[in-house]
Amino acid sequence: MLLSRPDVPRPTAIARDKARSLLERALGPSKVLTEHDACERYVRDESEAVGTVPDAVVLAENSDDILAALAAAREAGVPITPRSGGTGRTGGSVPVAGGIVLSTLGMKSIKEIDRREGLAVVEPGVILQDLHDAVEREGWFYPPDPNSQASCALGGNIAENAGGPRAFKYGVTRDYVLGVEALLIGGQRINAGRRTMKGVTGYDVTGLLVGSEGTLAVFGDITLQLIPKPEHVMTMMTLFSNVRDAGRAVQEIIARGLVPRCIELLDATTLEAMRSAGNSINASAGAMLIMEVDGDEAACERQAQRVSDACDTANVIEVLVAQDAAQRDKLWAARRQMSHAVRKLTKKKLSEDIVVPRQQIGTLLERVARTSEELNVRSLTYGHAGDGNLHVNFLWNEDDEVPRVEKAIEALFRNVIELRGTLSGEHGIGVLKAPYLSLEQSPELITLQRDLKRVFDPQNLLNPGKIFPAGSHAAC
Ligand SMILES: Cc1cc2nc3c(=O)[nH]c(=O)nc-3n(C[C@H](O)[C@H](O)[C@H](O)COP(=O)(O)OP(=O)(O)OC[C@H]3O[C@@H](n4cnc5c(N)ncnc54)[C@H](O)[C@@H]3O)c2cc1C
Repeated sequence: MLLSRPDVPRPTAIARDKARSLLERALGPSKVLTEHDACERYVRDESEAVGTVPDAVVLAENSDDILAALAAAREAGVPITPRSGGTGRTGGSVPVAGGIVLSTLGMKSIKEIDRREGLAVVEPGVILQDLHDAVEREGWFYPPDPNSQASCALGGNIAENAGGPRAFKYGVTRDYVLGVEALLIGGQRINAGRRTMKGVTGYDVTGLLVGSEGTLAVFGDITLQLIPKPEHVMTMMTLFSNVRDAGRAVQEIIARGLVPRCIELLDATTLEAMRSAGNSINASAGAMLIMEVDGDEAACERQAQRVSDACDTANVIEVLVAQDAAQRDKLWAARRQMSHAVRKLTKKKLSEDIVVPRQQIGTLLERVARTSEELNVRSLTYGHAGDGNLHVNFLWNEDDEVPRVEKAIEALFRNVIELRGTLSGEHGIGVLKAPYLSLEQSPELITLQRDLKRVFDPQNLLNPGKIFPAGSHAAC
């Protein structure tokens, strides 16, 4: 199941030709790629999902281009897959049956930063880091911070309801989306949501669209709430001899009512990968917590002391507080490059994103270790421990290891559900997790969501093959 393709039929040659000619007529050759080599760059994302090279790629420059691309897909009856930065981890922007890829990455305008109201209006191709920099220059703050922030874009962030290290204190993308311009495959342009702090008019359509993984609508303009930028930030790196102690430290921090803005956990194998990538880390350390507190300077110092005291009770072996912005940046750069460092350990890796109640982190890690040993599959874990959102990575080299990896993944998901957790904290379901949705959700709940999908997309052309288990698409 790991690398299998969903049951979405490839469009006929006639339909594909029709789509290409409709696109070229509506948008002109500068916005439509049809050469195989050019289209091939849009066949994968940052996951192991396997796609089919798209027949055309639309480089949208505005929301009218999006509507034109959607109309071509509808008229030709071919699938269309929205895409922004292509950094997704579950194959969300991977075209599973070819057709059209609709890239909104070229829509890069930060249209407005309203300093008095504390909101921003952005296009879907704005790179997250650029938004962070722009609002922080104005004294405001946009908290969601997926570690891919230098290359992911707001369209993908909204579609995945992205999280990140700071979600522990500040919440996830959904908490900051006030409204969206949603372009539907039926040709409608919907402005859902509001520009005000509060608002309960009608159903929460914005809430439904956030996290819909490009299956219900394509986003144009996005209205985001900002909050005042914290005055001061203090970053700490703490080392433990094993992951159990690090887990106890996290529990102690939470039990003491402390809310660092992030608590990032890295296990022993992850530290090994970081060492191989040139980071010098105490050789006796078998786990690391990177934590950050914010507020005014005095509050930061008080909180950092209390966090450090909590870590003492869990046998911390080293506490390092970043002394300046350069040291802080160095710590985070190591954390952000870690995923690439891990990738170098083996030819293939799959990063699963799950959440368990925080008190169950230790139990889950023990079970993952047991499964890895029993099935002889290499694994490592890091993630946002403050909110119980961990990334369990399975590593392998050769194809004949895949069946064992699949078993390890299924065992992980079964353990997560048994511990009353959830299958995804921030990466979404996409293609890779679709076969497992029914481990967590009842048939009635899945049917309700498929019915909703049908309202938005009766022909099942918008990003088909995502979220729902194979076999359920035909009904959409
Ligand atoms: C190194 C690394 C670290 C990461 N760390 C985190 C992390 O800490 N937290 C986290 O949440 N994620 C993380 N991710 C995953 C990924 O970066 C996020 O899911 C991100 O939100 C995807 O944004 P993107 O622009 O790359 O979207 P894409 O990969 O292009 O698309 C993702 C989904 O959004 C849909 N989509 C894209 N644009 C639109 C649009 N305009 N309208 C409608 N739907 C659209 C696509 O169809 C697809 O389903 C990480 C990924 C990597 C590679």
